[in-house]
Amino acid sequence: MRKRDTHNLSKSKVIEQIPLACSDELAAVEFFEFQRWGNTPCCVKCGSVDVYAMKDSKTGERSKRFLWRCRDCKEQYTVRIGTVYEESRLPLRHWAYAFWRACTSKKGVSALEIQRHCQISYKSALFLMNRIRFAMAPDLPTAPKLQGFVECDETYVGGKPRFKGHNKRGMGTSKVPVFAAVERDGQIRRHVVADVTGKTLKAAIKNVVDPRSHIFTDENAAYKGIGDHFMGGHLTVTHSRKEYARGPIHTNTAESSFALVKRGIIGTYHNVSKEYLHRYLWQFDFVWNTRKLNDGERTIEAIKAAEGKRLMYQSAVNPHA
Ligand SMILES: [Zn+2]
Repeated sequence: MRKRDTHNLSKSKVIEQIPLACSDELAAVEFFEFQRWGNTPCCVKCGSVDVYAMKDSKTGERSKRFLWRCRDCKEQYTVRIGTVYEESRLPLRHWAYAFWRACTSKKGVSALEIQRHCQISYKSALFLMNRIRFAMAPDLPTAPKLQGFVECDETYVGGKPRFKGHNKRGMGTSKVPVFAAVERDGQIRRHVVADVTGKTLKAAIKNVVDPRSHIFTDENAAYKGIGDHFMGGHLTVTHSRKEYARGPIHTNTAESSFALVKRGIIGTYHNVSKEYLHRYLWQFDFVWNTRKLNDGERTIEAIKAAEGKRLMYQSAVNPHA
């Protein structure tokens, strides 16, 4: 009980610290340092805890680049090393603000808003948001498979561009097929699929759902036969007969999850081209999967996930396109 109280205290502290971290650079640096190391800062090169924050010899304040130095390996480093913000020169207070907004806006936050609020270039804002979305991406090889009652469904996201010539390659002009698998009262995985054929959709299900699960879909013939691969079998509702639920058998959760994505894509991002849609799905999935956390906890989750992803970013392509 006592432990829980301390935990709650630290949660509320996070929410108190964020506004300052979004406006003051030292506060931002210390915020990211605390989220990464707690009260025991350590060397990112050798792991030693015999480290110190370098000071400016004249002012006695922290060095201009907020450097740390390790007494064991003699290396200098900053809290940015090994994270998605390592290669960025943007002040960390802008990163704090963007993480906060991305984690607290149900419909997402656009690079345009970040550009306006942080007074940075559009290019910088886009860089920042793309990396934050990547931090939110699931680590698929290690992510646990979905279990229990799992609703599977597909939809098309996107539509007509707002004006012609929006995209030279004609991308963003067509609707993009998206697949979703969602545990009843649990986690979701949505991703872009090449098409909505049985082969593709069934492979998508087998990829993310544990074989002991029960699969719920609508009557779409593409899903026919999927029950052979799952111990819980395959149960369907027939929408064309205006049957939307038979007891627990329905796909309402998957459908409402698509509605949220569509509102976000249209309302916040004013459409997204096919080649980038997967990044936005990472963000929407992350917010869905952390819906039981408060805003401060969710922001911390995203910041923690940003660690160790620097090297993966460059090679990150849409694994499902
Ligand atoms: Zn070291």
